[in-house]
Amino acid sequence: MEHLELSAQAQAKGEPPVALAKVSQSSSSSMPTPMPAPEPSGSPSCASCAWWNTLWKSLRGFFLIELFQGLILTGKYVFRRKITLEYPEEKTPQSPRFRGLHALRRYPNGEERCIACKLCEAVCPAMAIRIESEEREDGTRRTTRYEIDLSKCIFCGLCEESCPVDSIVETPFFEYTAERRDQLVFTKDMLLAIGDKYERDIAARKAADAKYR
Ligand code: SF4
Ligand code: SF4
Repeated sequence: MEHLELSAQAQAKGEPPVALAKVSQSSSSSMPTPMPAPEPSGSPSCASCAWWNTLWKSLRGFFLIELFQGLILTGKYVFRRKITLEYPEEKTPQSPRFRGLHALRRYPNGEERCIACKLCEAVCPAMAIRIESEEREDGTRRTTRYEIDLSKCIFCGLCEESCPVDSIVETPFFEYTAERRDQLVFTKDMLLAIGDKYERDIAARKAADAKYR
């Protein structure tokens, strides 16, 4: 109240309100420090700065300083070890656990490994695998349909980890493409064909990784 009365008196005299002045003083410790007002552009010191800046830029341009700085930087890297590769002719080394294109494997006698247990289908977080199965005449169970939708797959590798017979695996091959989404649905025949083609590589990678499991 006292501040408001003082403020009214001050306003009547044409002075700044006291209460507001006190508030601004008491809150000054918590408020950020205001930026100093810029000097008028026409001041003599700024004019000389601008003149020196212009002269410095002109000299740098005239003596090609930036060009030589760039050449020095390039020269520093000419004799260092290369850290870039000319893909696709050159490729980075791959871990035996690299997760690329899927494949279904067979036993050496040509029999499919998959026993249609559907663990891979159950564990797949992207629900990218579809399996249908039936019992054969010899009493074994095999898949009649095995599909992976690679447009859904996140290449987590859980299907490979869950498979009890090392049937579904992820190969080191990642250079494949498709023009339509339906071309990314890999059927059982396609997956078996990939497995047949790359069985030697798949087996070598499994053997290299076995001692760490
Ligand atoms: S890699 Fe992962 S997301 Fe892809 S099919 Fe296997 S479990 Fe599913
Ligand atoms: S691929 Fe492996 S986990 Fe999947 S259904 Fe066949 S045996 Fe089971």
